[in-house]
Amino acid sequence: MNTRLVSPASSAPENKDAITPSLRPENLAQFVGQSQLKTNLSIFIEAAKGRQESLDHVLLHGPPGLGKTTLAKIIANELKVGFRATAGPIISKPGDLAAILTNLSPYDILFIDEIHRLNPTIEEILYPAMEDGKLDIMIGEGPGARSIQIALKPFTLIGATTRSGLITRPLRERFGIPLAFEFYTVEELTQMMGAYAKKFQMSLSPEGSKEIARRARGTPRIALRLLRRIRDIAHVQNAATITQKLADSALCQLDVDKFGLDAMDRKYLTAIGQTYEGGPVGVDTLAAVLAEQKDVVEEVVEPYLIQQGYIQRTPRGRTITTKTYAYLNLSPPKAPASLFTENLSQNIRESDGE
Ligand code: ADP
Repeated sequence: MNTRLVSPASSAPENKDAITPSLRPENLAQFVGQSQLKTNLSIFIEAAKGRQESLDHVLLHGPPGLGKTTLAKIIANELKVGFRATAGPIISKPGDLAAILTNLSPYDILFIDEIHRLNPTIEEILYPAMEDGKLDIMIGEGPGARSIQIALKPFTLIGATTRSGLITRPLRERFGIPLAFEFYTVEELTQMMGAYAKKFQMSLSPEGSKEIARRARGTPRIALRLLRRIRDIAHVQNAATITQKLADSALCQLDVDKFGLDAMDRKYLTAIGQTYEGGPVGVDTLAAVLAEQKDVVEEVVEPYLIQQGYIQRTPRGRTITTKTYAYLNLSPPKAPASLFTENLSQNIRESDGE
């Protein structure tokens, strides 16, 4: 299980509900960052409201902890409709989905988290529901089986996924509004930390806020978790204000280094850099080295390291970059003189009549 402090996974019990729902942003204006996504979304919301129609189905994708669930709730608030949440792995029988769909009120939002983990037979029930507002259900088994059709009230499905590549094409094509989440910038996270500090009624200096933002892997869930732990440390130390110095020493104590990388990141990068001499290394091998599931490595560890330019995914496996050699204090291997380049320059010299 992933228990690291900078993990954006929400499995730890303190996560989702420790931040009480009222602390989450409740409308688009309070939702910091993701500006392009918000601009588009607000147009579609206005249009749907103006026409008094249900909003087209929305697919939210991006790494964990970036605000997909929060945004889904905000969409329901903005549309002033009901919100019903479930998750792909929870819906195990076609009847479960049928019950959820038939119990929705008109224009409600149905949020399915981890939609890429829906069972294929259940996915097939979703197709006519999303496209024609109809539910086709088989009753009975064998020769006596018959299919009945139920008309559904208009609804909007919001699917969230960390792995859009794993969503089948027919399902993906039924979402009219696909929205991709990006990692947040330091400025955006700084602004968010300031707002959360106010809600927590704690004194956080602008530099302290920036220090946390710089080291939170571009992820609000991590920034919030670090903020809470630093608040604990400040409390025990009787510090009135969280300054940059305090934030820095607290983050070091929490094993988050100056670049926002933690022990797991360092172990991952060191494995490629030292043990496998820079790579390429397959993800299965790396997962075994970290004693983690392959999914966790791909969904949680790697996206930020790729975005920050520490690693590259190649068809033959993962490799580290010059930035990582510098980070690990290793010298990059000397590039072998390429036969191709030598021949090429010789040809050029020859054609130049040298
Ligand atoms: P996801 O569903 O993508 O895993 P969540 O929606 O659960 O992420 O968000 C994780 C935490 O980060 C929540 O506590 C949420 O309030 C906070 N958060 C996420 N995005 C923002 C944002 N843009 N502004 C303020 N808080 C945010």
